Amino acid sequence: MNRPPARYAVVGNPINHSKSPLIHSLFAQQTGEALAYEALLATAEGFEGLAGEFFREGGSGLNVTVPFKQAAWAMCRRLTPDAARSRAANTLEVREGELSGANTDGIGFVRDLRDNLGIEIGGRRVLLLGAGGAVRGVVPALEEESPASITVWNRTAERAVELARDFGGSLAAASVEELRGRQFDLIVNGTSSSLQGGLPEVDAAWLASGCCCYDLVYGDKDTPFVRWALDNGAATAADGLGMLVEQAAESFRIWRGVTPNARPIIRQLRG
Ligand code: NAP
Repeated sequence: MNRPPARYAVVGNPINHSKSPLIHSLFAQQTGEALAYEALLATAEGFEGLAGEFFREGGSGLNVTVPFKQAAWAMCRRLTPDAARSRAANTLEVREGELSGANTDGIGFVRDLRDNLGIEIGGRRVLLLGAGGAVRGVVPALEEESPASITVWNRTAERAVELARDFGGSLAAASVEELRGRQFDLIVNGTSSSLQGGLPEVDAAWLASGCCCYDLVYGDKDTPFVRWALDNGAATAADGLGMLVEQAAESFRIWRGVTPNARPIIRQLRG
């Protein structure tokens, strides 16, 4: 008798918009792996119960998205170094009876910048806008690339200060006033302001010659941040679709032991 395919899911709120089921089914086709992947909606109170039930019922792996990555981190008995350092987990599985969490956002981010877009990070002055779960997720992988500096600005200044403290001084928080007169080689928008059709506080004077800009948010057309960057002379500006596919590819590798080729899937999703 044929065994049912291994079961995977992404859990978040909202979840209808998620491209993860499509991306993982394209990975499964590409690699010949047999699996089922669905989207699950959870409430703040219900997340932990839903995740526990998923694994008790034989689920093989769970992706976790906004706003539950920190709750997922707190549930895990085992964490990869990236998940431990970022205090957020987006890839869960049960290993030797214990819930284990990884964070693949940082790897996805760096692979898209460095390998797909050819953007150098080493030796560059990096400005991160935002201090939420996504920024926490990318910092460990960013640090590994040895940028010259990492500066973080956030609308709620205390969260930027807390982030800098949690990462042990490898990055510095700055207010808009403190950013006056400074320039950066890579500016990353890790705020969700593009989703609301707007921009965080930005200043074209921050763009050094050859500056690259990257928005973690993605959409069918240029995000407001990508448009702003191009209108103000950035050398490159990209949205986060490539990161989304690359972080999913790393989750797939963790679960299945096979690394899908993300590039044709990114091209296919861009249409
Ligand atoms: P989050 O934890 O809710 O944090 C949201 C961040 O955005 C906070 O820093 C918040 O500032 C800031 N913000 C929200 N609205 C703003 C506005 N109007 N002006 C300025 N700042 C604003 O969310 P997250 O998990 O970090 O996710 C952030 C974005 O990254 C989301 O849009 C998500 O879709 C995207 N993302 C993409 C990928 C990918 O693979 N491409 C992966 C992860 C996340 P305050 O602290 O002041 O509220």
